[in-house]
Amino acid sequence: MVDFARSDRELELEARTQAFIRNVIIPAERDPRQTTHGPAPEFVAELRSKARAAGLLAPQVAERWGGYGLTHRETATVLRASGYSLLGPVAMNCMAPDEGNMHLLDVVATEAQKIQYLAPLAAGEIRSAFLMTEPDGGAGSDPDMLATTARAVGSDWIIDGRKWLITGAIGARFGIVMARTPEGATMFLTEMDAPGITIERVLDTLDQAIPGGHSVIRLEGLRVPASQVLGTVGEGFRYAQVRLAPARLTHCMRWWGAARRAHDIATEYACQRKAFGKPLIEHEGVGFMLARNQVELLQTQLLIDYTAWTLDQGARGTSESSMAKMSSAETLFQIVDRCVQVLGGLGITADTQVARIFNEIRAFRIYDGPTEVHLWSLARRLQRQQAKGKA
Ligand SMILES: Cc1cc2nc3c(=O)[nH]c(=O)nc-3n(C[C@H](O)[C@H](O)[C@H](O)COP(=O)(O)OP(=O)(O)OC[C@H]3O[C@@H](n4cnc5c(N)ncnc54)[C@H](O)[C@@H]3O)c2cc1C
Repeated sequence: MVDFARSDRELELEARTQAFIRNVIIPAERDPRQTTHGPAPEFVAELRSKARAAGLLAPQVAERWGGYGLTHRETATVLRASGYSLLGPVAMNCMAPDEGNMHLLDVVATEAQKIQYLAPLAAGEIRSAFLMTEPDGGAGSDPDMLATTARAVGSDWIIDGRKWLITGAIGARFGIVMARTPEGATMFLTEMDAPGITIERVLDTLDQAIPGGHSVIRLEGLRVPASQVLGTVGEGFRYAQVRLAPARLTHCMRWWGAARRAHDIATEYACQRKAFGKPLIEHEGVGFMLARNQVELLQTQLLIDYTAWTLDQGARGTSESSMAKMSSAETLFQIVDRCVQVLGGLGITADTQVARIFNEIRAFRIYDGPTEVHLWSLARRLQRQQAKGKA
């Protein structure tokens, strides 16, 4: 039976995170050390030292790596609270792509790789990147179109290809590269300043909150020793699934927090601002938008918690996380869009965080599987179940 009971530890961490976001992070939101490609490195380091002092750095990781070893359910509670400010997940070292990479390394990496990469990553001392998507007709929605290759030369691998939309590549210490080998797709760990890696350019994008932005990268004769293969050769797609289900869900958690922030700002405005002789919220058109937001925030919270609980039971949660991701991305975007509308002209200005959240959340409908791909794969599963007579 689904159990949503909340532990004392979870409640305490939630309260501590809420206080940290409210008292420390929100006041820093207007710090000028934020660029169109994310917060500057010294600002990130400063925010992280504050999170460390509050005992809130990478709370989701195992105790061995400095976290609390949270369950997926507990993680949901804490990451929702972190997302209440766009700077929260950056400060707390629980944002993409590092958070997903930490999980993947913890599950798949060798002990030596964990010491070398996971330990400093979880400590918030370095950043990382995940290099999968390709321009020029390569891997995108369809990972099978992976065009980057890795060939064995002696005990090393030589990697050639191009990647793009790679989040956080500028400033990352290491990357996890997905490449095609004769045995199938394989993941490799590489230093990002290794000879053979060229960052061609940083893309100018709608979203601007993640340190390092999103880059186009050329891999040319990149030499990686066999000891830097992540897991087993040929198992790359399987490991991508290991990374994907929880990583999709943590995106939902953080964006839930951001949508909740937008909703709170819009509600406050609608209760104060008057038009045609009464507060906006008393006009049904506005009141219903906010009421709908509240219902949909709760629905999304329950879907996230249900999926997290499923993962906590040891299930792979592939279709649950797919449904949660697709539904959260669409619903949370609609909620934030309504908030912009409720605020009128103020909604598109930088005077509140709502316009910022609106810009940032749009991409969530595309990464970690566009909405249409999730629906398409769910439909295929339905068809298979029907064929087996299980629908
Ligand atoms: C902000 C952001 C950050 C990202 N960070 C990273 C990163 O760090 N590392 C990384 O490797 N990648 C990253 N990506 C890339 C992301 O994973 C891809 O954008 C995503 O997989 C979609 O691939 P694509 O952009 O090539 O779209 P395409 O494959 O060209 O698809 C375009 C559109 O076609 C539609 N479509 C595709 N297939 C189907 C189908 N079967 N049925 C119906 N419609 C379909 C969808 O609407 C889709 O949006 C990031 C993307 C964004 C936007």
